[in-house]
Amino acid sequence: MTLRLPVPTVLSLLLLGPLAATAAPRHDHGAHEHGRVALEIALDGPTLTIGLEAPLDSLLGFERAPRTEAEKKAAQAVLADLRAGAGLIVPDAAAQCQPVSTTVDAPTLQGGAAAAGEHADLDATFVLRCARPQALASLDLGSLLDRFRRIARVEAEIVAPAGQFKAALQRPARVLRWGR
Ligand SMILES: [Zn+2]
Repeated sequence: MTLRLPVPTVLSLLLLGPLAATAAPRHDHGAHEHGRVALEIALDGPTLTIGLEAPLDSLLGFERAPRTEAEKKAAQAVLADLRAGAGLIVPDAAAQCQPVSTTVDAPTLQGGAAAAGEHADLDATFVLRCARPQALASLDLGSLLDRFRRIARVEAEIVAPAGQFKAALQRPARVLRWGR
């Protein structure tokens, strides 16, 4: 089957390509899209590392230091829930993964420098150790999506011994799958 694109579409894709590549470098905190969370998943031997980058808006509903008591409580709850971490993102049971460590970095919520632009992110890294890493081909994100209702889409890049993959999940889907 041949995919035929109308010529204007091809042209606009060609024109957009290089622009899109320069306009959206990773970790450019000024250029995220609300509702969209990025995951970088790396499997190295038994060690599974999941890096999460989320707009604060998608976790908290605002992207500045909290002002009111209610906002401060909400911000602390977001940090605490992500630090508790592993239950929000659940690997294939068959891979037999156990959490090792979690780090959460959100300078805007942690009294660091004020965000440079209008946007602010939260970065988290979850490290797990898997007894059967070769069985890993999915992550259940249901708890993450239940906790943070403003997340609409998750886009993932996976680097594993089996290869490199891209995978995406759009609500109401709950399980991110790749590779098979
Ligand atoms: Zn934003």
